[in-house]
Amino acid sequence: MSRTVLIVEDEFDFADVVALNLRRAGFETVAVRSGEAGVAEARHRKPDLVLLDLMLPDIMGTEVCRRLKSDPATRGIPVVMVTARGEEIDRVVGFELGADDYVVKPISMRELVLRVNAVLRRSPQVPDDSEALSMAVGPLRVDGPSHRAFVDEVEVSLTALEFRLLVALLSRRGRVLSRESLLDQVWGLQAEVETRTVDTMMKRLRDKLGTAGRHLETVRGVGYRFSDQD
Ligand code: CA
Repeated sequence: MSRTVLIVEDEFDFADVVALNLRRAGFETVAVRSGEAGVAEARHRKPDLVLLDLMLPDIMGTEVCRRLKSDPATRGIPVVMVTARGEEIDRVVGFELGADDYVVKPISMRELVLRVNAVLRRSPQVPDDSEALSMAVGPLRVDGPSHRAFVDEVEVSLTALEFRLLVALLSRRGRVLSRESLLDQVWGLQAEVETRTVDTMMKRLRDKLGTAGRHLETVRGVGYRFSDQD
């Protein structure tokens, strides 16, 4: 069964070239030209991946990403943000909103297809650790098979990457994991991602976990540790 990529892009020429190259690579493609249409189409069609332009005519790509990642019906769908602007701030914002990868135009079609494949490859890898892992520490409970996390039995809405980060730390409780090792385990081998991204996502994860966030300890100059001490 071929996989479907939803292209949310208002530059017709770019969208056409991307669609053509993805179809050549064996994907089915659907293209829409506004953010609202992107959100609606993602809910309706459940694509395997969303390629999301940052500057759209109606709402920003970041807002589309936020909506997709906050809706349980769509938050498991990987999102690759596409932008013409290369500022670091965008990348950090993109990941904070739950984007799974971030590419900057101009980009060769070969590289774009590679990145799409890489994101799709690592998405089903999540189960490696997390599928088997269901455990509770203090107020925190993680249910691996359903990819859900609870604090005091109230569900916490985590992006796919945040969930992987939590599981990576939880499954090696008490051990210190370096940023590099977390990047490797959670993000996969991506040259584009910097260690600072780990710090940003860790902060967000802590905030989301509320009272359970204190278990995520920073070990200065080394990395992070999940501690079961209160
Ligand atoms: Ca655009």
